Amino acid sequence: MDKTIGTKVSFSSHNVVKCVCPECPVQVRSKCASDKLTKIKVSLAKTPLIREEIPGLYCSTGGATCTDLDLEQACSCGNCPVFSECSLSMGTPVGYYCRDGFAK
Ligand code: SF4
Ligand code: SF4
Repeated sequence: MDKTIGTKVSFSSHNVVKCVCPECPVQVRSKCASDKLTKIKVSLAKTPLIREEIPGLYCSTGGATCTDLDLEQACSCGNCPVFSECSLSMGTPVGYYCRDGFAK
């Protein structure tokens, strides 16, 4: 799994707030992700953002740093505005960026 930030989707607070990963069934019961969400306002105020503090936007930042995701569940990326705006259906992988790394 590639953990390096990609170039297709910008790692910006603008995109973080559009990302639907926090509501995705894969992540919604993750204690690790929930803990990051409770501090998201502080995390979003930082420049640059710190990828380990953001529980989402994996299409930009690559695989999740949380290890308690439920990958048996369905990915919600197809419902995300970033997915359509950046034409991620045309690249690889298509979804499950938390598992498979950033969009190319
Ligand atoms: S990348 Fe897809 S599977 Fe992973 S948390 Fe986000 S929406 Fe869910
Ligand atoms: S496409 Fe998936 S990983 Fe990327 S911002 Fe949307 S929900 Fe998050």
